[in-house]
Amino acid sequence: MGDTAAAELIYRVHADPRTHCFTVHLDIPAPVEQEQVLTMPVWIPGSYTRRDLARHIVDIRAEDDGGALALRKIDTHRWLLTSRGQALRLHYSVYALDLSVRTAYLDGHMGFFNGPALFLRVEGQEKLRHRLELSGPADWQVATAMPRTSGADLSWGSFAAADHRHFCNHPVLMGALGLVDFEAAGLPHRLVLAGHEQPDLPALGRDLAKVCAWQQEFWGASPFRSYHFLCMASAGGYGGLEHESSSALLCARDDLGGGDRAAWQRFLGLASHEYFHSWWVQAMHPASLWESAGEAPVLTRDLWVFEGITSYYDELALRRSGVLSVDGYLEGLGREITALTVRPGQYRQSLRESSEDAWIKLYHPHPNSANFEVSYYNKGALAALCLDLLLRSRNSSLDAFLRHLWQTQDGAGAALPEGDFLARLSAWADPEIAAELEGWLAERGPLPLAQQLATVGLELRLRPPASPDDKGGKAADKAPR
Ligand SMILES: [Zn+2]
Repeated sequence: MGDTAAAELIYRVHADPRTHCFTVHLDIPAPVEQEQVLTMPVWIPGSYTRRDLARHIVDIRAEDDGGALALRKIDTHRWLLTSRGQALRLHYSVYALDLSVRTAYLDGHMGFFNGPALFLRVEGQEKLRHRLELSGPADWQVATAMPRTSGADLSWGSFAAADHRHFCNHPVLMGALGLVDFEAAGLPHRLVLAGHEQPDLPALGRDLAKVCAWQQEFWGASPFRSYHFLCMASAGGYGGLEHESSSALLCARDDLGGGDRAAWQRFLGLASHEYFHSWWVQAMHPASLWESAGEAPVLTRDLWVFEGITSYYDELALRRSGVLSVDGYLEGLGREITALTVRPGQYRQSLRESSEDAWIKLYHPHPNSANFEVSYYNKGALAALCLDLLLRSRNSSLDAFLRHLWQTQDGAGAALPEGDFLARLSAWADPEIAAELEGWLAERGPLPLAQQLATVGLELRLRPPASPDDKGGKAADKAPR
């Protein structure tokens, strides 16, 4: 084939709410002659279980100026296209009725997609510029952090990214959108909301701005120049997924208004969690997962490093930025400790094992999960708390260690190899501290929470549950029965 340096891949995507399908026309200007392989991911970055995204693809076919081209499956997630080596177009649809932040959703009111759910990867052409031309219902708006190349703000138009990885790392939200713009650390931020009529967006923006500003100051340098929170509201949904300069959020409508402070904090905590990932998973990322993105699942023992530490800081950022009171923070911490304490699985699975088995266990809960397993989010956050308190008792802190990692990894695009967190902690702090942490990670048993909390004058008290749905975090009523 000829020179492909100037070529780009063009994905023309149309949202068709009547069929819950996104139709895609993919222009490949210079395919590999005869054997062009096309791939859908097996899993989605940030969500560690097999999703087999090829299963939502329907009506796939290919043609060039000479007519139809042969296309056949060579694996569950790959196709072999017999091209004539000249420009061709691929047509397919993606069924989108998964109301989550992971894949794609489309109804008469709103639509959302995560790149890996829609964009076939053209093997060998990943480094080409990728362009998205997006259309849909005339009265809808569209929001994404992907750089826009045509069309007015919030209108249908075209967007582009330097390569396939970046192309897939900018989810898109569409529909009747509410939004609030704010600044944090002098950078433009936007909260975009679909599926909710009248939330108090200015108030949400004010609180979110404080949380973002605190995190920017915490890390000291931003990995992005602008940021989008893309949020879908539904009856009772909850979830988030981090991306390079945006995050996708799913929350319950009740979390965004109605005066319930705990619900409001649940939303802010979710947004805080995904925002923290901009540094800690996106810019600094787990090397093994990054390299195998979308292909076969890889075993890693370090998910607690990324998800546990982020879960520790998501609520802490609310407290330290002033949107959550000390009492509110301690109540949340009490609930986190309760969730682990009542889980018999903490005696049967270590934090490391929880990470290793994420692919087959955490994402596949069953009625006996609480008896057999712990969560690297829940126990990981509490291990991070213990580590922070241990470091603080030696006149240091987890803050300082994370900033050390950030500053010595030359910022954006830095991979943290498997096991490196412990090795670097050992070198930076004290080998004894790293050894203690290693014990907590390997042990099938409780963390030294009472002992570590006592170092800052906090007493951990256990009491019987007051009711079956008692989540802890509060002292017993005056007259327990
Ligand atoms: Zn996370």
